Amino acid sequence: MNNQFIHKTLLFAVFFAFSLSSQAQQPAATTNYDPHLAFSPLFYTQNGNEYRSASGYPGPKYWQNRADYNISANLDDKTNTVSGTVTITYKNNSPDQLPYLWLQLDQNLFDQNSRGGKLIKAGSRYGARGEKVNGGYTITGLAVSKKSKALKFTSITEDTRMQIRLEDPMAANGDLITIKMDFSFAIPINGSDRMGHLATKNGEIYTIAQWFPRLCVYDDVIGWNTLPYWGASEFYCEYGDVNFSVTAPADHILMGSGELLNPQDVFTPEQLKRWNAAKQSDKTVAIRTAEEVLDPKSRPAKDKLTWKFRMENTRDVAWASSKSFVLDAAKINLPSGKKSLAVSAQPVESNGADAYGRGVEFVKASIEHYSGKWFEYPYPMAVNIASNISGMEYPGIVFCGWKAKKASVWGVIDHEFGHTWFPMIVGSNERKFGWMDEGFNTFINGLSTDAFNNGEFKGKKTNLQAAAKFVSDPNKEFIMLTPDAMVEQNIGINLYAKPGWGLDLLRQQILGEDRFDYAFKNYIKHWAFKHPTPYDFFRSMENGAGEDLSWFWKGWFLENWKMDQAITSVTPSKTGGAITGYQIVVSNLEKMPMPIILQIKTASGKTDMIKIPVDVWMRNKSWTIDYPATEEVVSAELDPEKVLPDINPANNTWSK
Ligand SMILES: [Zn+2]
Repeated sequence: MNNQFIHKTLLFAVFFAFSLSSQAQQPAATTNYDPHLAFSPLFYTQNGNEYRSASGYPGPKYWQNRADYNISANLDDKTNTVSGTVTITYKNNSPDQLPYLWLQLDQNLFDQNSRGGKLIKAGSRYGARGEKVNGGYTITGLAVSKKSKALKFTSITEDTRMQIRLEDPMAANGDLITIKMDFSFAIPINGSDRMGHLATKNGEIYTIAQWFPRLCVYDDVIGWNTLPYWGASEFYCEYGDVNFSVTAPADHILMGSGELLNPQDVFTPEQLKRWNAAKQSDKTVAIRTAEEVLDPKSRPAKDKLTWKFRMENTRDVAWASSKSFVLDAAKINLPSGKKSLAVSAQPVESNGADAYGRGVEFVKASIEHYSGKWFEYPYPMAVNIASNISGMEYPGIVFCGWKAKKASVWGVIDHEFGHTWFPMIVGSNERKFGWMDEGFNTFINGLSTDAFNNGEFKGKKTNLQAAAKFVSDPNKEFIMLTPDAMVEQNIGINLYAKPGWGLDLLRQQILGEDRFDYAFKNYIKHWAFKHPTPYDFFRSMENGAGEDLSWFWKGWFLENWKMDQAITSVTPSKTGGAITGYQIVVSNLEKMPMPIILQIKTASGKTDMIKIPVDVWMRNKSWTIDYPATEEVVSAELDPEKVLPDINPANNTWSK
């Protein structure tokens, strides 16, 4: 990406030197703006093809591989260990033979010698935060077969990846292979703030994720995606169906991704009745109340119980287990008429009406909002778990910080469930492009929060002028980097706020809500359960909205261009001493073009708002607005609502 950009910059430097000489006679404004750099037509370096079409949607020959998993696991709460057996059915839909396969062993991040462990600094939220856990997988009994016949292979494990080297390659276009192995690992307390365990007064809470070996994605973009799990970057997984069962102490309540297949085996008869009632109820139904948590009769009188789940068309599954859980549920109404089930499990400490006592209400509202606005929620349950993870998303289940209160409870649940759409439904590569999940999600969270309960948690409008110094700081890297290549404290701006504000800008100031929403909804629909790249997104938006936005992608996503518009002069025109109008000159002083929003006030108190499209910056560094007037203009102000990232508002105003 950088090399291409330097190349383009050089090309334009040459071109621009030539065009400068023809302008040399005019007085030069002090500006860093280069219209030809901003509006070069050479943004895309590759054309669309039959795999990824020029329109930004999957092409007619788009393919992706598939991984189905069958897992049976055990939770040992004496040793804080998960052990299990996984059987993976892997289908090679690619047009390539595969002589070897790569798997992700993310738990190996918590091995004392992991590459991530060496990279993560003390004080980071990532890694094991100093715990001397003897983490990482123990894997035994690895076997590979085809149509029940054992295959010859060898394997290596390098950090968080395992390579299976096949004696005979998998054939192209649909060959199937089965991989089986036993695995176990010690559960870290702080598993990179994405899984772990927490002591509460009524028992330990286990939040279990990155817990079984998963296939790396083989795609048409780079082939095998084998970036290690270094801690900061998230995940990129294949879609498939997952059947999993977890055996845990019977006094635990265990919730997982997908559908709970055997509620009759794991609940008491009373709890089963309430569980079924919740499926019919728009109001929260308590399956186990806070008062019942310590009552032995609130769990079946057994030693262990096996909880069974199934999730279809998913890129991952996770689960949580504890004897401390209060459990609530209610029905989710989806646009098609289908129903899902909102569930929240929290310890009594987190159960207040100012906390996760409203968990189910928040889960339900969040999912109903996003389903109506963008794409219908595809899974049978949506489970919130309160624990020591500050906030982490998985398909059908999220882990949220147990100490959150009031608006933060809504905020974290809405954010983590917003991730259902990015990256659980739209399966982008988070390990490389964190902004395609965090930024998109931050953007949809804004709309969801405004809408919730007549604006109960509606925040103040973002002042983009104040935000400008953060989004155009040359020291803040830029959006298009893997999170592991960013200073940790910059991740919030680079991957969440800046891309989120970018979509707000596109929607509100550049395309308008209708064109933006149409294009964005189509992007989601066409890439649901598939693997888009950043350029697929850019193309989808440009095609759907009918607009060349390369200047915007370039300045906002690939670079940290600054924006600074200024009012340079305000001059009246007069005929016979009477005012007939004003010439207002606006200059663009920095690299980023944006539409002009100008507010003009006249002597009688009239206020006009003038909007000029970004197009005027294609060949100009300053633009003269002819304002017809028969009375005096007393003031003019650029962007009075502070909706553009103008880094220097001091030159935005003029007054008589
Ligand atoms: Zn997030």
